[in-house]
Amino acid sequence: MEDQVPEFIKKMFPNGPPPHLKEKYPNGPPPEIIEMLKKSVGNQGSEAPKEAPNEKQQAPPEIPEFIKKMFPNGPPPHLKEKYPNGPPPEIIEMLKKNVGNQGSEAPKEAPKEAPKEQQQAPTANSAAPSADIIPPFMTPEMLMEMMKLGISPPKGEIKGEELEKIEKIMKGMRDDKYSYKYTGNYPDNDGYFGMFGGIMEEKLTASNRAAFTNCLIETIGLLKNYIPTDEFRNDLRKIRRDFQGRPTPIYECTRIQELIKKKNNGKCGRIFLKREDLNHTGAHKINHCMAEALMAKKLGKTCLCCGTGAGQHGLAVATAAAHFGLDCKVFMGSIDVAKEHPNVSKMKVLGAEVIPVDFGGKSLKEANDASIKYFGEHPEETFQCIGSVVAVHPWPLLVREFQRCIGDEAREQLFDQTGRLPNHVVACLGGGSNSIGTFSAFLDNKDIKLYPVEPLGRGTKFGDHASCLLYGHRGSLHGTYSYVLQDENGEYKSHSIASGLCYPCVGPEHAFLKEITRTIPSGANDHEALEAFFLLSKAEGIIPALESSHGFVQAVKLAKQYPDDIILCNISGRGDKDVDYVMENYPQYADIKVDEFDLLKC
Ligand SMILES: *Cc1c(COP(=O)(O)O)cnc(C)c1O
Repeated sequence: MEDQVPEFIKKMFPNGPPPHLKEKYPNGPPPEIIEMLKKSVGNQGSEAPKEAPNEKQQAPPEIPEFIKKMFPNGPPPHLKEKYPNGPPPEIIEMLKKNVGNQGSEAPKEAPKEAPKEQQQAPTANSAAPSADIIPPFMTPEMLMEMMKLGISPPKGEIKGEELEKIEKIMKGMRDDKYSYKYTGNYPDNDGYFGMFGGIMEEKLTASNRAAFTNCLIETIGLLKNYIPTDEFRNDLRKIRRDFQGRPTPIYECTRIQELIKKKNNGKCGRIFLKREDLNHTGAHKINHCMAEALMAKKLGKTCLCCGTGAGQHGLAVATAAAHFGLDCKVFMGSIDVAKEHPNVSKMKVLGAEVIPVDFGGKSLKEANDASIKYFGEHPEETFQCIGSVVAVHPWPLLVREFQRCIGDEAREQLFDQTGRLPNHVVACLGGGSNSIGTFSAFLDNKDIKLYPVEPLGRGTKFGDHASCLLYGHRGSLHGTYSYVLQDENGEYKSHSIASGLCYPCVGPEHAFLKEITRTIPSGANDHEALEAFFLLSKAEGIIPALESSHGFVQAVKLAKQYPDDIILCNISGRGDKDVDYVMENYPQYADIKVDEFDLLKC
């Protein structure tokens, strides 16, 4: 075993491995990847080589046995539709050339030394051993694309020895927070933050899995070949400046500081707000939606689809669709449709189709379920716009990068105005995009404390809040292995007056940051958030979104507690959308005088 790289892999890269693979595997591909390739495709050679000794010859029109074996139940519907007459000759040729005629070296060593994880459902197709490693919905094309991009097939939840290893690394990070550099190292190449994240949800239906895997490959392709280009960056920069109105300012809450000082022996920290409420469409979500629309356009898609809670994501997607001349379908829980009426109207004005979702909790989770289903049924023309740092890799990475302008700008602006960096950084946490976008700029300054603020709702009982980090546990939803709110029966439940925070899962990076204790998860309940909503409105003339009000609660608490410190608080969005709802349901708060809020008590 001196020469680590088998011939058949060398043949895949006639000009040597591409730079990103060389960097990842300086000593050649690791044994498990070689094994995987051998097992999944290596021993179909017995019938292939007969037809492929002379590569020039025209591929026969019939489908070779080794491809048939990959689909024991016939090709999946989307392939059948794409290739009604079977796979085209160039695909057959490619497979044969790359993997079909390796039979000679593979079978010797890969007979059956890994049958331990055979709980993989039916083993009917023992002749196509791909089943135990390569998910059955993966087509040869997908496999080849993934190999070209240097990504491994989906591996889902991390278990066993690998999990133990990761737990140990995370313990080291907890014990010595100065021992690691964060930025640039997470997620890892497979899309994991420790054991969180990753690239596949086991519970998706077979057709969705295929659509998603394809989408994953397309998306990772863009991540490697489009997002880093000047073309993309310049387009996005121009959109942000001319269309969105970036950079958004920061603003010091001097009047609220005075109110606190009156009750706190003249002491109060300085609270600076990052004004994402001034972003076009009134919230931070447009930051990643415009970038996502650019990606959709690059892929030649004609329709953007999404699920939305408060309607802010739907509004941002509808705006992006209108800007780029794309169709738009927005799925929205029927409860939210009624509650967030202004946003629904805006989406319609922008030309989007708003589709109410009437099952389950009739809120954000179900809206996403419906959107994912739609996307699974129309994968060719549709681009699923992800609304936060959730879902399969690479979305948590992409959305974070599209949102990091919040923290990057704020860091510079705060330093310009005060000559200091903040001591505390606060942002509300739904899926986690505005908070991670804010935190990203500060993650390597380990003395800066970061507080994601979760909605504590109306109580601590399951179903009364949406605090995944504080009350949830490890689990998965919509393709993310993270922290979830799920009971023994597998049911997901969440509540918050802020629809945008009402999601029974958080982004995987937040789960990781909590477990390595880099962040300090905290919470604000419905009452506190309503007070913050009115306090910021009455004392500063800024009506914040109910979501952002949660973050502001924590900012006020910190200002009381740390009078010498600077607190940076992201105001993720404006509250216009919430005004009617609040005044109809909680008019009593409007009567509270500006210096009589419980929140100000010391
Ligand atoms: C959607 C939304 C949130 C929550 O989403 P994150 O991904 O956690 O940022 C927060 N604030 C506003 C205004 C929103 O629209």
